[in-house]
Amino acid sequence: MSNTFGFTISARQGRARTGVVSTPKGDIRTPAFMPVGTAATVKAMMPENVRATGADILLGNTYHLMLRPGAERIHNLGGLHKFMNWDRPILTDSGGFQVMSLTDLRKLSEEGVKFRSHIDGSEHNLTPERSMEIQKLLGSDIVMCFDECPALPADRKRIEESMQLSMRWAQRSRDAFGDRPGYALFGIQQGGLEEDMRGASAEALKSIEFDGYAIGGLAVGEGQEAMFGCLDYAPGQLPDDKPRYLMGVGKPDDIVGAVQRGVDMFDCVLPSRSGRTGQGQTRMGAINLRNARHKDDPRPLDADCSCPACTKYSRAYLHHVVKSQEIIGSMLLTWHNLHYYQELMAGLRDAISTGQLDAFVADFHALRAVGDIEPV
Ligand SMILES: [Zn+2]
Repeated sequence: MSNTFGFTISARQGRARTGVVSTPKGDIRTPAFMPVGTAATVKAMMPENVRATGADILLGNTYHLMLRPGAERIHNLGGLHKFMNWDRPILTDSGGFQVMSLTDLRKLSEEGVKFRSHIDGSEHNLTPERSMEIQKLLGSDIVMCFDECPALPADRKRIEESMQLSMRWAQRSRDAFGDRPGYALFGIQQGGLEEDMRGASAEALKSIEFDGYAIGGLAVGEGQEAMFGCLDYAPGQLPDDKPRYLMGVGKPDDIVGAVQRGVDMFDCVLPSRSGRTGQGQTRMGAINLRNARHKDDPRPLDADCSCPACTKYSRAYLHHVVKSQEIIGSMLLTWHNLHYYQELMAGLRDAISTGQLDAFVADFHALRAVGDIEPV
């Protein structure tokens, strides 16, 4: 275990890399998937079970935690790790993206964003300085810069103004974060789908210097082809020797394509959220357990999966508990989905280490092309 924050790359294949982000609270094997623990919980999962799926790090949401139960309260109760019983690394977002996406009444200025809570309508002010303060109060190991991004498509002028504002906020975030050994601050590249603006954003961030770099403003409605087009150049504009984090991505095939393009870290609500709506993410693709075809099916969701949902229960049982809205349906499918995501990341890491990434990716797409097993 390291006393400082660091990143070591152990193998590469093409633009893909595998390695370890080291922190005082434990190592994060990359490429890494971070389950989302929005409100100090990965919904429907005990923390020890999230760990059992292979997760090295969780993501927490500043916006949700500052509103309820409040950052000062969590700090007074010993910090987010103790509060939610997760002793490994935690990354928190800055709150910026969710203020923009979840609140209607907001006012954006050079200073920051004034908004009303979607919970009780109370007024709040989020600035780079306050975001850094909140993330420190929470005890976050990887802190994200406060930024702003327009929904795509947006015109160049809007994208440029937004990117420039985010770069000024990145400098204010860096200044407010200060010197905190063992903790990391990540800058966030913006610039929409414009290569020159992505490049300008990367240069601005590199001159400030961060412990890691995120690619922000993607997976906001542009589609996979446009996202991959951007990822063909964006990661290469960022420092090679620091972790690269693609925020809010994604579906399994998004992740595989992004890893091939040099991304090291991911987060997405998809495995947990879709697990609560009866969807299983599998090697054969997404499977809807609500479908009547599973009603009499004694077979597991995925015969090759070692998670509890697949080793102890049938598709018929999963169908039944999903249809009758039993809580265990959410628990089992969330567990399976997080397990599948972590297996996928482990497979990618192993494939890069052994120089087998191309074959791994070919197998990944071939299995999904075949799709689910035939009905009974
Ligand atoms: Zn499973």
